[in-house]
Amino acid sequence: MSEVRVRFPPSPTGYLHIGGARTAIVNWLYAKKHNGKLILRIEDTDAERSTKESIQGIIDGLNWLGIDWDEGPYFQTEFEKDHAQAAAKMLAEGNAYKCFCSKETLEKKREAALAAKKDVKYDGTCRHLSPEEISDREAQGIPSVVRFKTPQKEGGVSYDDKVLGTITRSYSDIEDFVIVRSNGKPLYLLCNVVDDIRDRISHVIRGQDHLTNTTRQILLYNALGALPPVFAHMPLTLDLKKAKISKRSHGEIVAVQYYRNRGFIPWALVNFLVLLGWSPGDDREIFSKEELIEAFTLERINKSHSIFNYRKDDPKFFTDPKAINTNGHYLRTMPVEEIAAMVKKELQAENLWDDGYDGAKKEWYIKTIDLIRDRFYTLKDFSSLGRSYFSDDFEIDPKALAKNLLKHPDLKTWLPMLADRFAALPTFNKDTAEEAARKLAEELDIKPGIPINASRAVITGQLKGPSMFELFEHFGREIVVKRLREAGKYFQE
Ligand code: GLU
Repeated sequence: MSEVRVRFPPSPTGYLHIGGARTAIVNWLYAKKHNGKLILRIEDTDAERSTKESIQGIIDGLNWLGIDWDEGPYFQTEFEKDHAQAAAKMLAEGNAYKCFCSKETLEKKREAALAAKKDVKYDGTCRHLSPEEISDREAQGIPSVVRFKTPQKEGGVSYDDKVLGTITRSYSDIEDFVIVRSNGKPLYLLCNVVDDIRDRISHVIRGQDHLTNTTRQILLYNALGALPPVFAHMPLTLDLKKAKISKRSHGEIVAVQYYRNRGFIPWALVNFLVLLGWSPGDDREIFSKEELIEAFTLERINKSHSIFNYRKDDPKFFTDPKAINTNGHYLRTMPVEEIAAMVKKELQAENLWDDGYDGAKKEWYIKTIDLIRDRFYTLKDFSSLGRSYFSDDFEIDPKALAKNLLKHPDLKTWLPMLADRFAALPTFNKDTAEEAARKLAEELDIKPGIPINASRAVITGQLKGPSMFELFEHFGREIVVKRLREAGKYFQE
């Protein structure tokens, strides 16, 4: 195979959408797999809709995901000359023509065609204008667009889509489409092809929403005397009602930034997004970067659309549960130091970071992460559910409060008693703490679980967690005693 050169050409008109990110990831994987190059090209020719913030957001999003590119970013606006030249070449060689039909005329014809249930294709009025008719209209100052001259013959455009197989569209289905606007600006269909030719793109991997563009673009390649690249179209991402997921109807869950803000691990999101539309052919769901590059093939991209399983009405699932579970998996299984470094940023953002965690308290910090990550799903959980480990100012889970504290009003005195016992121990560790807690329960003639679960509630704020005896030792005598002594505050109105 000759050199693989793929591209990611976003239009910078908004945030990085997870569908766009998936396209970028798949192109990146394909480039990596074949020692090829990924080119980042910002398609910024739509001056009204393109913004600097969006360009930055896309670049930040890709960087965060760990998707690196080999060339670029190129900016489409830097190549406007190439686009204009290509349009001129097509006009000169008779592959395109100027069309002087006004918007009003076209609209009227469209309505008439619709009413008569006929095709709404452009009817070719200007396709056969003589040079005199053209100069006559130009002399009158009538504005014109440039239309591509679709072959008028039997047959059609055909190509072998790496995902969907042979795709054929008959010429008669393709109208003479506009390639240059009346303001002289070439349109996406043309610019994109001119740039792909210049950038020597070997494979165009993009969403199925571009299928009708592809057949038209192949005609442009032919007219420009270039060989079309290999095409592969990825399935769309739909919601449970089979509608395309979009910011308008689904809100921020479609933006990569949202996952970053919600405490996702970048690779976990990459892993989730790849499987949304591609399958390895076996039941593996977790892939390292190397494994994914090894397993990835275009042929295993799914033909049918992917379903993004998101139920707005269930706040527990703030996005597709599979994404959350994948993140939870990485959170629990990645080297603890790597997680600890990510949690540091989260704690800093929430003003919970103590510089000692990088110094004298480092061992304690790392152990904390290791102890609590088992039940967590996102980095945010460390500053919310895990807050009690890093601050005295935390809230107690209402369930833990009701079930393990308020249910036994006597705990108001039992917990301070336990605090006294702990304070009096010659040495304080998980074994001595356990012994003291059990002894107190026996003396009070209560189940040991009662003071122990209550201790969990007032010390960690949580209903469940790691072994409480281990936690006594981990939090250390000072904090344990303090929080047990203050337990009375939860019983007040
Ligand atoms: N700028 C286009 C988009 O964002 C590029 C599509 C493509 O050719 O891949 O949809």
